[in-house]
Amino acid sequence: MSDTQCAECAQLERERDTARGVGDFSRVTDCDVLLKRHPEHGALSAADGRGQE
Ligand SMILES: [Zn+2]
Repeated sequence: MSDTQCAECAQLERERDTARGVGDFSRVTDCDVLLKRHPEHGALSAADGRGQE
């Protein structure tokens, strides 16, 4: 578990934590998926706005 994630992932993790706390598991899964789709994190900022084709 790395603590050096980008701001977006940090927010997603907090959101996931909150969702889990209230029993909103569809939201938990949602956040999990979004986190897994964020492989490069801050590295993407170099190609800002053009991450995918
Ligand atoms: Zn990220």
